[in-house]
Amino acid sequence: MRVTIGIIKGDGIGPEIVREAVRVLDTVAKLFHHEFIYKDIDLGGVSIDLHGEPLTQENITKAKTCDAILMGSIGGDARTSSWYQLPAHLRPEAGLLTIRQTLDLFCNLRPAILYDTLRHSTPLKDHIVEGGFDVLIVRELVGGLYFGEHIEEMVGEEAVARDMMSYSESEVRRIAIKAFEAARLRNKKVTSVDKANVIATSRLWRRVMDEVHLDYQDVTLEHMFVDNAAMQLVMNPKQFDVIVTENMFGDILSDEASVIAGSIGMLPSASLNASGFGLYEPSGGSAPDIAGQNIANPIATILSAAMMLEYSFGLKEEAKRVNEAIQAVLRDGYRTRDIYEEGNQLVGTDQMGELIAKKLHVSYET
Ligand code: NAD
Repeated sequence: MRVTIGIIKGDGIGPEIVREAVRVLDTVAKLFHHEFIYKDIDLGGVSIDLHGEPLTQENITKAKTCDAILMGSIGGDARTSSWYQLPAHLRPEAGLLTIRQTLDLFCNLRPAILYDTLRHSTPLKDHIVEGGFDVLIVRELVGGLYFGEHIEEMVGEEAVARDMMSYSESEVRRIAIKAFEAARLRNKKVTSVDKANVIATSRLWRRVMDEVHLDYQDVTLEHMFVDNAAMQLVMNPKQFDVIVTENMFGDILSDEASVIAGSIGMLPSASLNASGFGLYEPSGGSAPDIAGQNIANPIATILSAAMMLEYSFGLKEEAKRVNEAIQAVLRDGYRTRDIYEEGNQLVGTDQMGELIAKKLHVSYET
């Protein structure tokens, strides 16, 4: 297969973790006789420095010519970086919102899996996580509060701010379908998270979820308020299979899920549009506190690349091999600092990438 992959290295640890994912992709290409052509795309702080804005039209056009995009992460330390002195629409995050919206990447898939090898990394008690857990969070990504109007103004002598949260029936329906389809391939349970006791968008959300469910009677649907969902995730994560929720609730719950799954450095994500085009990135941010030190965990980015192989290119066997190689390296006891425990072998970002690529070779040859 010959495909073009857009590469957004981004800021902070972005270039380090993307380099390791590309190393693994190159190994897959070599072993399975594919040709991956890479195109660099500037986004975030790096683009502000180069072009004066977080995402240029030229880079949007470039992104549209790719078959899929692999991204590190963008942004800097808001307390110290000059990027955050700029107006909101010129900051790094504005570029990310623009690319999501322009490519209509409405469906964000975030698997939160606690592997048995990493049980010590979760802050949850043993009896809660016994046997591990596997939750898929399906987050609506281009609607809701983050894309509504944001107003900051003076009313008389007082500063006032307003944010508009809006959803249409069709926006809810298309994400509902994605969630039910995903559940069909898993344990056939969808938990729809909302705040229907208080907000209007959630009441619409709940009604549409119920309507779509009529076409998926083989899947169980339950509704849960977001405050309860936040509690249930830490009290009993094993009860969940697929969680579907709107943009802001999904942002918060998926970060919570990443912590209980051990480390944000382990969690991949995929953002897809209706035609299956996807942007793949780790769930975490640019981690400016550890950037350039060769200590970031590249596994979330490598897992994101594996999701790309499967979801965008249909290369299931290759994706499975990458996942198995990661598991094997963890079983061998190698750990980056974020998941390290006494007795393990501490490795840097580059070594972790090399070990995974090497395992792929070994598994291919045996
Ligand atoms: P963060 O996820 O960057 O960091 C939170 C903590 O997790 C830090 O202690 C960091 O060192 C650690 N961490 C994150 N990824 C890691 C990895 N791969 N390996 C080991 N440790 C890791 O969140 P933050 O500090 O709130 O945000 C930093 C910047 O990232 C901000 O500018 C924020 O806007 C941006 N951000 C970008 C994205 C994105 O690109 N999609 C997502 C979230 C945050």
